[in-house]
Amino acid sequence: MSTKSDVKEEKKNLNFIEQIVMGDVEKGLNGGRVQTRFPPEPNGYLHIGHAKAICLDFGIAERFGGKCNLRFDDTNPVKEDVEYVDSIQEDIKWLGYQWENIYYASDYFQQLYDLAIRFIKEGKAYVDEQSAEEIAKQKGTPTTPGTNSPYRDRSIEENLDLFERMSKGEFPDGSMILRAKIDMAHPNMHFRDPIMYRIITSHPHHRTGNQWKVYPMYDFAHGQSDYFEGVTHSLCTLEFEVHRPLYDYYIDQFATDEYRPKQREFNRLNITYTVMSKRKMLQLVQEGLVRGWDDPRMPTICGLRRRGYTPESIRSFINKIGYTKYEALNDVSLLEAAAREDLKPRATRVCAILDPIKLVITNYPEGTTEDLVMENNPDNETAGTRVVPFGREVYIERGDFREEADKDFYRLSPGGREVRLKGAYIIQATGCEKDAEGNVTTVYATYDPNTKSGTEGGNKKVKSTINWVDVNTSVEAEIRLYDRLFAVENPSAEEGDFRDLLNPESMKVITGARVEKSLADAKPGDKYQFLKIGYFNTDLDTKDGQLVFNRTVSLKG
Ligand code: ATP
Ligand code: MG
Repeated sequence: MSTKSDVKEEKKNLNFIEQIVMGDVEKGLNGGRVQTRFPPEPNGYLHIGHAKAICLDFGIAERFGGKCNLRFDDTNPVKEDVEYVDSIQEDIKWLGYQWENIYYASDYFQQLYDLAIRFIKEGKAYVDEQSAEEIAKQKGTPTTPGTNSPYRDRSIEENLDLFERMSKGEFPDGSMILRAKIDMAHPNMHFRDPIMYRIITSHPHHRTGNQWKVYPMYDFAHGQSDYFEGVTHSLCTLEFEVHRPLYDYYIDQFATDEYRPKQREFNRLNITYTVMSKRKMLQLVQEGLVRGWDDPRMPTICGLRRRGYTPESIRSFINKIGYTKYEALNDVSLLEAAAREDLKPRATRVCAILDPIKLVITNYPEGTTEDLVMENNPDNETAGTRVVPFGREVYIERGDFREEADKDFYRLSPGGREVRLKGAYIIQATGCEKDAEGNVTTVYATYDPNTKSGTEGGNKKVKSTINWVDVNTSVEAEIRLYDRLFAVENPSAEEGDFRDLLNPESMKVITGARVEKSLADAKPGDKYQFLKIGYFNTDLDTKDGQLVFNRTVSLKG
């Protein structure tokens, strides 16, 4: 049994929207029912901002024993496409959520149309033939009233006739609109005779084809759709707060019962060094400024997935930043920290050499190899071990060797310090070979057979440990390193064209890297920690033995 203080305690852990919902349930509003919806417009791929809305919409339904539907807000055929409808479903499922039903605003086109006819008949709507510029000029300002349209007092018959003909396609796009007849002096600008319908004959709709020539505006479609479906809590971002009275107004005009959906608003997610707008992302894709919607530099769900983010890391990030009533810009390092935290116990720790040079251990018996047993993940007891072949010739990072080194250099240098090859033996460099340009091509070293890791001699301490992979069994790989997509913290706040603010160094492709044998069969989506380098995800481009890895994040922020 829960006591009063339990309930109080539980309430404290809820975000402010959840507290509102809990209060509504306690009051028995709408019979104590909770129903939400996630309402994307299918005009682009989902980004991590949408994940914030998804976690709230689905999370609230889960927490309060209600349901959450997916509703496509497909009222603008010009920009919408089934490609987006499909990707949106895939991304929501990948994030770990399942909707109760899928609905489309286009399912309600007839109902909305009938409602518009009813508004006209009740003298609450009229057809305006002015241009968009004229209408804008008459809007007034927040402190001065607007001006009535000369078409505002048309007869009901004339309005009915014109609207019906608009919907039959008798008039060209942009020539007329249907407006609600409310109040051109209303202090809330959204009430100054808002547009209900516009003509679109130029683009077929992705579901209804050429059936409709008029399409409802967001404000006229959204609340009504919520009402038709039985939504109790219509959650959206803060910019819709000023639309809320209109949302309520429309529903009040036709609702016959007590039931009302409630719109509540929370802050949008914005993240540093990126843009969170489908319109801008579409531009980047169409102009080839990124490699597609799922480019690992994109803030899209599919981009983050390809980059190596897991659903858990995204949800944990969303949970940490929380929901408020204030706009904010969240530091991308919080998202990166969530990835590290999630991948640490999950990603197998392996060796990859990005810039390989060969190292020959001259006193290691020729023609001999041995199998070293390595822990897959010291932070995860269940991760087990794997066998890594070791032999006379290994690749090491070019930067781990210096022909001439000062005393501050702890890694390999001829006649210099002893260095441990990770999980193997202690070695000491003896010399090197160079090509005509003076680049080192081979490093020579000797090893101490009594220092094998995991044996008694393996405890001998040295100042540094370096990575290696076996020359004979390691495999070649392409490695893609990513940096921030934009060079400035808040590209949306800058003047000028956002495309000029892209970071020219946002992707570095390394070919000819070497990874240990255990990665030879890596499949897209397999996640690793490349020791000392970062967390990596096997890329979708991996095929026919051609390995490609994306760096998700570096090891430290
Ligand atoms: P964009 O401006 O990127 O096109 P949008 O708001 O037009 O985004 P919709 O498809 O209309 O995108 O959004 C679906 C839902 O996701 C809405 O409820 C919207 O409030 C929410 N949403 C969109 N962007 C964000 C964001 N950055 N943070 C939180 N919620 C968001
Ligand atoms: Mg939108």
